[in-house]
Amino acid sequence: MPITLDWLGCATFRLAIDDTVLFLDAYIDRVPSAPNVGLSAADITRADAVLVGHSHFDHIAGAEVIAANTEAVVIGSNESARVLLEAGIDESQLLRSQGGERHRIADGITVEVFPSLHSCIWTQGSWDPGKVVLGQYGLTEEQRWGGRGLLDVGGSLGESSPDQDQLQRAQMLDHVATCLGSSDTGGALAYLIDTPYGSIFYHDTSGCWTGVVQNLRPDLGIVAMAGRPNIDGEPIQGSLAQFVGRMSDMLRAPRVILGHHDDWMPPMTRDMTSADALAPVANELNHIAPRTELLDVPLGGRVELWR
Ligand SMILES: [Zn+2]
Repeated sequence: MPITLDWLGCATFRLAIDDTVLFLDAYIDRVPSAPNVGLSAADITRADAVLVGHSHFDHIAGAEVIAANTEAVVIGSNESARVLLEAGIDESQLLRSQGGERHRIADGITVEVFPSLHSCIWTQGSWDPGKVVLGQYGLTEEQRWGGRGLLDVGGSLGESSPDQDQLQRAQMLDHVATCLGSSDTGGALAYLIDTPYGSIFYHDTSGCWTGVVQNLRPDLGIVAMAGRPNIDGEPIQGSLAQFVGRMSDMLRAPRVILGHHDDWMPPMTRDMTSADALAPVANELNHIAPRTELLDVPLGGRVELWR
């Protein structure tokens, strides 16, 4: 039976290993103007586990629906567990984790949890994967935020367009207000999924502790590409493409798949899935991690990992 991975938009994936189904994040029900990925969280009738990378809505929302409908366990931080408990999910389904845990999901399938980092939400990134962004280095929390909140800063995803469509903007604000999620990251987590066919590294926001990801050597790496990447607590002095190159080099994964790079919440987000947008990523991999192959998974599409 082939081992398949479906990309359901943003950093959400469905991984099917024989009879076992894992969701990596659960954010499937998006704003109306986001590209449709062909299904809704309510359509999902089969899941054994949901791995939540962090507690923001664009990652955790939908986990409450999938957990309620399938009895899947949810692996996530204490903050993710709090959010899901409040949404009515039973404590027995919540595998609270902070890094260092190894959870058994099925025969031969385990999930190891690692501490990770969120992208630098206090500053802005770029929607051009090739664009080098500098500065904001070595700042204290006070200097980073200066009394501002996440919404004042505008998030780490990049400058917003002055000609934002007003209807889309209203729909976006309504969506954010009604989605399940937390204003805290809860502490970002990364996962190493071990299967009889191979291992998969997964994180859902562009950040890492280099000492943690160094030489994990998964057979596949799923790397988030959005915002201003965070390396060991500091914003990358470079581009999104360089972050993907560095992650691929550190992980030493023969194959890499990107996440979080679609136009997941217009009008705030931009599409970075086109061949043009990805050219700097391919170029960077050729230089930094020439043995790593960038696998393309179409939005809403499926790739066969092993058979
Ligand atoms: Zn986030």
